[in-house]
Amino acid sequence: MGHCLPEHDGKCYRPHGHRYAVEATVSGPLAVGGSSDGMVLDFGRLAEGLARVLDPFDHRFVMARHDPRMQGALALFGPDGVLLIGGVPTAENLAEMWARELSIILVLQVESVTVYETPNCWATWRAT
Ligand SMILES: [Zn+2]
Repeated sequence: MGHCLPEHDGKCYRPHGHRYAVEATVSGPLAVGGSSDGMVLDFGRLAEGLARVLDPFDHRFVMARHDPRMQGALALFGPDGVLLIGGVPTAENLAEMWARELSIILVLQVESVTVYETPNCWATWRAT
């Protein structure tokens, strides 16, 4: 996914991309009976939920809706190549946004979402 930070005074202002990795933790009661017996959440359902949240971002350029370069990016990449979001696409904001969306999809408490831009640069959102 590509992104840029409109107010950043360093190199993150410029368009660039990352090979993001995302970790999520959830909590809830253990299921009793059925195919999920003894599980809080089947890992397959978690993977499906994460895919629903993250797939729209895959191989797209993500920008803040208020970024003045937005029209140029739309003209360059087309409407399918750019994804506009309400805030600045930092790892922190993405983690919070994805945690809220994942919680709605899974109908479970999402305890944390960690977004890695690189193996050494990440942000974690935690439920309070
Ligand atoms: Zn970046």
